[in-house]
Amino acid sequence: MRQVLPPEYLDLGTEELEHRIQQAKAALRKRVVILGHHYQKDEVIRFADYRGDSLKLSQLAAREREAEYIVFCGVHFMAETADILTTAEQKVLLPDLAAGCSMADMADIDEVEECWDVIKGKYPDQEIIPITYVNSTAEIKAFCGRKGGMTCTSSNARAVFEKVIGEDKIILFLPDEHLGRNTGLECEIEAEEIFLWERREQDRGDQFEDHEMRAQELPVIAPRLILWNGFCSVHQRFTLEQINRARTKYPGIKVIVHPECEHTVVANSDLHGSTEYIIETVTRAPAGSSWAIGTEINLVHRLAQENPDKKIVCLNETVCMCMSMNRIHQPHLLWTLENLVQGKVVNQISVPSEIAAEAKLALERM
Ligand code: SF4
Repeated sequence: MRQVLPPEYLDLGTEELEHRIQQAKAALRKRVVILGHHYQKDEVIRFADYRGDSLKLSQLAAREREAEYIVFCGVHFMAETADILTTAEQKVLLPDLAAGCSMADMADIDEVEECWDVIKGKYPDQEIIPITYVNSTAEIKAFCGRKGGMTCTSSNARAVFEKVIGEDKIILFLPDEHLGRNTGLECEIEAEEIFLWERREQDRGDQFEDHEMRAQELPVIAPRLILWNGFCSVHQRFTLEQINRARTKYPGIKVIVHPECEHTVVANSDLHGSTEYIIETVTRAPAGSSWAIGTEINLVHRLAQENPDKKIVCLNETVCMCMSMNRIHQPHLLWTLENLVQGKVVNQISVPSEIAAEAKLALERM
């Protein structure tokens, strides 16, 4: 559900919305910085001072010391990271509080703590290093900070794995099964050395299970990598059949996908990498080249518009939009900015200081 706005914001036409957003931005001047994630719609991203992926945007926000307000057009965990990295005086706002991330929500902190206890109990002689993808809640980042682990991005996951892999060590990777498996296999961890930890399905009403029972599911010989079975609802929709179809339909096309896709998709693509890597690769490609891209549709459309000399299609011909990211519309952005003009801070995302300190530790170790 989208966050409900005051009725006067609901029926505004595009022209008025855009005019008032510009006016509010101009009134706030350098006191506000608007961040736009690559997966946002064009109608929102055109007002962003910076575009980028989640961590890059948070790091940029941290450098904008003059800005009192950071309006993050992204999802909840991104605004949390921005809050962790900015100063106590800066306020981070999310224009629609309903913009969460289904993948981040798949790792519940109590359940992760339970998993940790079971693994520790099963393999007392092994060192366990928790690594969380930055697409996770502040609580999960704090857990990793507290337990001697760190965060990673889709660009540096391999480097982070290589830093910690070793004898008598188990990596516990949260919350994205696919990024974890793709990275582990790249780092020459064998498929048999990877164990998939099944999270509880809350909508099925699963309860905490007996630790003994969970421990029995783990192999006798310690795995090198334990994956939390979270996934991105956008990237999980790309398939091998789509790759085969694209190659038949457009002979010579290059397939480039995000590592949040399943391993079969990544293994059968020509190239794979983070959002920034996909943008850079396609932008630098020679005129006349053809690309089937396995990532969020708003970004693919934008790349097609910005590279008219290339053939660019989305690997999935049906919709593959990040629904959470797309909750933010111009009326939400306008409402947030006009409140700031009136001195009212709405939808502030504030991470409690203890969690922020431990989460920062995990981010800094990366
Ligand atoms: S694209 Fe996937 S990981 Fe990113 S915000 Fe949407 S659901 Fe979450």
